Amino acid sequence: MQVAIVGSGYVGLVAAACLAEIGHTAVCIDNDAAKIAALERGDPPIHEEFLPVLLERHRGKTLHFTTSLEEGIRKSAIIFIAVPTPPSESGDADVSVVESVCQDIARRMNGFRLVVVKSTVPAGTNNWIRRVLQRNGVQAHCFDAASNPEFLREGTAVTDFLYPDRIVLGCDCGRAAEMLKQVYQPLLDGSYAASKNAIPAPDDALVPARLILTSSASAELIKQGSNAFLAMKISFINAVANICEATDADIEEVVDGIGSDQRIGRKFLKPGIGYGGSCFPKDLLAFRAVARDQGYDFRLLEEVKRINEEQRRLFLRKVRGALWTLKGKRLAVLGLAYKGGTDDIRESPAIGIVQALLREGCEIVAYDPAAMKRAKAEFQPCCSIRFTETAYEAAADADALLVLAEWEEFAALDLERLREQLKHPIVIDGRNVYSREQMRKAGFCYFSVGRPETQPDVRSAIQSSDAAA
Ligand code: NAD
Repeated sequence: MQVAIVGSGYVGLVAAACLAEIGHTAVCIDNDAAKIAALERGDPPIHEEFLPVLLERHRGKTLHFTTSLEEGIRKSAIIFIAVPTPPSESGDADVSVVESVCQDIARRMNGFRLVVVKSTVPAGTNNWIRRVLQRNGVQAHCFDAASNPEFLREGTAVTDFLYPDRIVLGCDCGRAAEMLKQVYQPLLDGSYAASKNAIPAPDDALVPARLILTSSASAELIKQGSNAFLAMKISFINAVANICEATDADIEEVVDGIGSDQRIGRKFLKPGIGYGGSCFPKDLLAFRAVARDQGYDFRLLEEVKRINEEQRRLFLRKVRGALWTLKGKRLAVLGLAYKGGTDDIRESPAIGIVQALLREGCEIVAYDPAAMKRAKAEFQPCCSIRFTETAYEAAADADALLVLAEWEEFAALDLERLREQLKHPIVIDGRNVYSREQMRKAGFCYFSVGRPETQPDVRSAIQSSDAAA
């Protein structure tokens, strides 16, 4: 099929590349000319595993890029909208870009089109899209509108798209449902997974993908409800982690016990410095606003947000607790992205923490495997922050090392080498990347989230310094 995707960001670009991968011809439209030029050259503007492979396979063949909406939608029967829906002042999702794209589509339509919203939007958006298309001169029989929320996670976006837990199609008429089922057929019948050059499926992939067919309003609510629930899971386990710290319990053991209950499950029970990114914070606010507009005060969501913000403050307290005064201390920071595996720093707790430490007079030496370019732009040149090419360089002569994003690269560091770089063997881990035992043996004073403080094993520290001598 011929499909168009408006918006070439984390969602739009990944969707377009994956739709080309499963056999369609996709054209990706964006109003950012520099981004489109980079994509035409084959430079992915985001860090995402397998995306370069898909661009290499399909760019210029069944995957095209343009800044022209008209050119993009001319031959495409299906138009996916994947533009931003940022929070407005009051917390509601600002869907004005979605509306203006629909107005533009209406003016340029030259035959039947199915307009599908992939952006995360409040319930009722599909009804507005129908109204906007009609108000801009499109007759009711010339279009359908549908909702197809996206559940991909940055860092594993390509495999999430190709091997999703579920595909939710919110369609209020049979024709839209049939067209969208055809788009996803290779994922729904397992033929993509069985194909020779398929991107490898993750171990826990559900093949074939489960189809969930709903009304458009339900699909819109499924997306907002899912993100709010996931944010709640994170805040819940963070609150439990705080109680663990106060009672000398170990959150890893507690999570093992809680998560073994199949009704609860282990996923997303990962304590840390809180969630961030471009989705959870804004989707939580937007969901609360939807509830408020319907006369329901969803206060639980406010509490989820409060716990999340508190988590950063508690981490800063932990840093002070480990180092006493902060002014003039040099701190190595590993991880600036809002989580491991992505270069996205939007609403990154790591950036917020670094900014707070700079305000307290610390000198920061930071390293992130992918987010450095974006992070550099966040700080004024006069800030006391330097960026390095490796984690070891960041650690050189630092008073302590802070881990703020859970990159696999950090888990695999040579701990002895790391310790030798540091002025003092102090690690404050906001993501529980290391085990306490591992850090004790490696000779660190180790502070993490929801686990008792760990002091170095003096014997192994002496042995390793003897060996070095
Ligand atoms: P993004 O900021 O990475 O990308 C959006 C793209 O849209 C940008 O390239 C921008 O230049 C382009 N754009 C803006 N206005 C445009 C216009 N008028 N015409 C053409 N292009 C335009 O955003 P994203 O992270 O891909 O998110 C898009 C939507 O998907 C949001 O609603 C988001 O909540 C939702 N979503 C995001 C994720 C995620 O992990 N990032 C996951 C699921 C859903």
